[in-house]
Amino acid sequence: MKIWLDGGLQDTESARVSVFDHGLTVGDGIFETVKAVDGRPFALTRHLDRLTRSARGLGLPDPDLDEVRRACTAVLEANPMPLGRLRITYTGGHGPLGSDRGGHGTTLVVALGETSRRPDSTAVVTVPWTRNERGALTGLKTTSYAENVVALARARERGASEALFGNTVGQLCEGTGSNVFVVLDGEIHTPPLASGCLAGITRALVTEWTGAKETDLPLDVLQRADEIFLTSTLRDVQAVHRVDDRELPGAPGPVTAKAMRTFDERSAADLDP
Ligand code: PLP
Repeated sequence: MKIWLDGGLQDTESARVSVFDHGLTVGDGIFETVKAVDGRPFALTRHLDRLTRSARGLGLPDPDLDEVRRACTAVLEANPMPLGRLRITYTGGHGPLGSDRGGHGTTLVVALGETSRRPDSTAVVTVPWTRNERGALTGLKTTSYAENVVALARARERGASEALFGNTVGQLCEGTGSNVFVVLDGEIHTPPLASGCLAGITRALVTEWTGAKETDLPLDVLQRADEIFLTSTLRDVQAVHRVDDRELPGAPGPVTAKAMRTFDERSAADLDP
């Protein structure tokens, strides 16, 4: 397997990143996961825009997007696979231990892993921890994912594939690696960015393509919504058939099924929408 590091392709087994890299020691880094279909990245421009926004939010220098594009192309050519995910990681580089800025240079790693098409529906749980809708990192796709790792472990213990967070004022926010949508009286709703959720790229496309509304939703909407679905780069649009102890028989329901079809058709027609 070949990855991109230090300006060129390297073997995964021998590639080296400093043990003092701030991405490793303090989570001072950002990332993107990009779907790649038959060697071509999906929605890469949107991912690169978000990468730059996340870098600016953290105070990192803007990533060299020409290099990132070249890296993606090179990694995809070196590792042919029908359905893969490119992982772009960009950190503050190596520097002294501690939380001060002062990393030297930056580190860019682009790797590719094989993935598989998601099942049509899945189970989710809610977790008691909250997303902070007003934190310094809110809305940034940073490598500080330990909270998501803990929440996802809780979901797995309960036979679910995703954990959903509310925010500090009791509104529905997002999953550990996905955005959430609910169907109420035939209309599709998703929490606004002010809820603290990530500006998911799949969320933006689904909202645009289905006319979903951004609505403040109390967490308990999950107990009464007619349908619930998740969106993410790796799930695309995925129906929810169980949330905590509530079953949603027949998922995907009709509105979700239509959103799934719309997403599959439109994304196949335009690889960089
Ligand atoms: N929310 C979080 C916390 C995520 O990590 C992700 C994706 O990794 C998403 C939402 C979905 O975003 P996207 O559709 O861009 O993959």
